[in-house]
Amino acid sequence: MGIYAPGKDAGRLTFFALHTLQHRGQDAAGIATSDNGVAHIHKGQGLVSAVFNEDNVSTLKGDLAIGHTRYSTTGGPGLRNAQPQIIETLGGPLGLAHNGNLVNANILRRQLLERGIGLQTSSDTEVMVHLLTQASGDWMNRIKSLMTQAEGAFALTILTRDAIYGVRDPWGFRPLVIGKLDDGYVLASETCAFSAIGAEFVRELEPGEIARIDDSGLHVEQGAVPKQRAFCTFEQIYFSRPDSIHDGNLVHSTRQRLGRELAREHPADADIVVPVPDSGTPHAVGFAQETGLPYTEGLIKNRYVGRTFIEPTQKLRESGVQMKFNPLGDNLRGKRVVMVDDSIVRGTTSGPLVQMLRNAGAAEVHVRVACPAITDPCYMGVDMASSDELIAGHKTVEEIRQHIGADSLAFLSIEAMMRGLEAEDGYCNACFTGDYPFESERFVQLELRPKEQFANVWGD
Ligand code: SF4
Repeated sequence: MGIYAPGKDAGRLTFFALHTLQHRGQDAAGIATSDNGVAHIHKGQGLVSAVFNEDNVSTLKGDLAIGHTRYSTTGGPGLRNAQPQIIETLGGPLGLAHNGNLVNANILRRQLLERGIGLQTSSDTEVMVHLLTQASGDWMNRIKSLMTQAEGAFALTILTRDAIYGVRDPWGFRPLVIGKLDDGYVLASETCAFSAIGAEFVRELEPGEIARIDDSGLHVEQGAVPKQRAFCTFEQIYFSRPDSIHDGNLVHSTRQRLGRELAREHPADADIVVPVPDSGTPHAVGFAQETGLPYTEGLIKNRYVGRTFIEPTQKLRESGVQMKFNPLGDNLRGKRVVMVDDSIVRGTTSGPLVQMLRNAGAAEVHVRVACPAITDPCYMGVDMASSDELIAGHKTVEEIRQHIGADSLAFLSIEAMMRGLEAEDGYCNACFTGDYPFESERFVQLELRPKEQFANVWGD
């Protein structure tokens, strides 16, 4: 988040808005403000509601604020890496909140260390803070310099004495949108944040653009030459909230279209369609609409247990499945069930869910997945650290079916997925294809080497 709200307590507005972005990260949350050049910050581990209270929100004075909910990719989940990161510079406070993952972070990190700059965290975000301070010129020029050095996914909000900035990497991997709020403006990862604070959608920040927001209004310029756009398909399939809008389409509607494509491509001889809630729900609705099969709830989700996929360790993810779902026996007994899920990543959720449906009396369980099999890791901000962790990275569809104990299993094809997205290109599909949108040999040579070679003193 980034908010410029003259006379309106930007820190408090950011606190409200961050609740709507909680699904993007649950490790840590933070808000930094600038009050005529005096910086205020509060951050901590856990959910927004756990980190903030009236006492600390009331200290976040000023018209300018940035905020963050953290989902750890580069660097561990600890408090040290919580964002925003903020430092003092000759030009006043400099705060940065980052969504994404730099693919050349370790190279940049090494370069900074060689120049004698000490690093306090293991995250790629701190690297960008130092690249900004090391560059010359005004903040706009420094951001442009950063954009020539950073490779990978970076949607940023930046806090300075007099302005906030929004920055989107030249590929546009992660979303960043601009909203209008009375006399000010708002930046957010998703449009769902706007409704919480009464802001109105203005437009998306395009790949390579920088937005500067201050008392003279909104000023957008091209900070770097845009590359072939590579917006993350997974934002549409899973990550973003269904009430957000990407590319002019409500995410919920896009997911319904994907469900309809799935039904056309992989119908099932069954009695009912059951979603894996919540992220599989719109896909299942689309599947049911297309097939004419009744849509029925078969799994009740405990909404007070975090999302299993974005919890930082495998152990936490596995125990989370049992705690998170309960079957509705009356709806399932004797029925041939199509269980629709948005994706299968590690395969830790699907097997226990299939078993849960069977234990509750389902006669058959046919699993349909609203995206292709995920075979390759993501280096751009979704935590799929290695092929070993991805079940489709080392098993065929038939082997996965056996592993999860389903009667049948099918994944949406790339072609059908792109039809569902109503796009021919402009999306990153690297985790389905292994075709990364970087020409850089550096990326292949340096970033795919074993992790141990990049061990830092923080041990993560
Ligand atoms: S590799 Fe997959 S998860 Fe990562 S940015 Fe590309 S589409 Fe998104």
